[in-house]
Amino acid sequence: MNEKRYQDQENVYHSFICYKCIANEETSDHLAACPVDKEIWKQLEEKIAEKIWDSISSDSQKKVDQH
Ligand SMILES: [Zn+2]
Repeated sequence: MNEKRYQDQENVYHSFICYKCIANEETSDHLAACPVDKEIWKQLEEKIAEKIWDSISSDSQKKVDQH
């Protein structure tokens, strides 16, 4: 009985591997902590920060630098 259940879990495991890192089971826990996702978010945040910084006038940038 236990053996059967284990096999079923293994089948689920193989059909739900995270397609981003191809190394972990795609559980909701993993999706929240996927290392590939974190890297994408980090890059996205840097791009957004750059855009915001560019949209600030150079006068405001000087003010921020003084802090
Ligand atoms: Zn992943």
